[in-house]
Amino acid sequence: MTSVADLISQIKTCTLCADRFAATETGHAPRPVAWIGPKARILVAGQAPGLRVHKSGKPFTDPSGDRLRDWMGVDEATFYDTSRIAILPMAFCFPGYDAKGSDLPPPRLCAETWRQRVLDRLSGVRLTLLIGGYAQSWHLPDAPKGVTATVAAWREFLPGSLPLPHPSWRNTGWLKKNPWFERDLLPVLRTRVTEALA
Ligand code: SF4
Repeated sequence: MTSVADLISQIKTCTLCADRFAATETGHAPRPVAWIGPKARILVAGQAPGLRVHKSGKPFTDPSGDRLRDWMGVDEATFYDTSRIAILPMAFCFPGYDAKGSDLPPPRLCAETWRQRVLDRLSGVRLTLLIGGYAQSWHLPDAPKGVTATVAAWREFLPGSLPLPHPSWRNTGWLKKNPWFERDLLPVLRTRVTEALA
């Protein structure tokens, strides 16, 4: 089996979506952002890089990342230690903006091409954090429909997985409307993160 390192090298040179990205409002080229080690204990299954991450080449280098690290109770050194945490989005590249300036969805082709091959090589994962609807649909096909219903059912997926809303500022209203998330789920998330890293 190809090693994780070789697979990551292949992903980093992938240009399968070049034509698709060239046709977006941003007209950018692929820049896959893969932050994965073979012995990671926690898998962060996210959506796709935004424009800031596309520019930095490092995942979650934005306010969403600050909020996610706060939710998890980890510092940057831990979060970016690939021997402890693997960050595997549903697409490795920034998908671009639509005409209204919103992020386009992650191209399905990316998960179809790469995702299972990466997952097959991550044998030490103890906890998978499923961030947003795309990752939840992939990993929890039988979960209730919709992010709110899936996250509300979080206890069903313990101890191996926890569904979370996207930590984007766009979801600040969602967090206010669903106070149980911070009150009930976050303490359990932090405990599970500590246990998985121990
Ligand atoms: S999004 Fe995925 S499939 Fe598309 S170019 Fe980037 S790495 Fe390749």
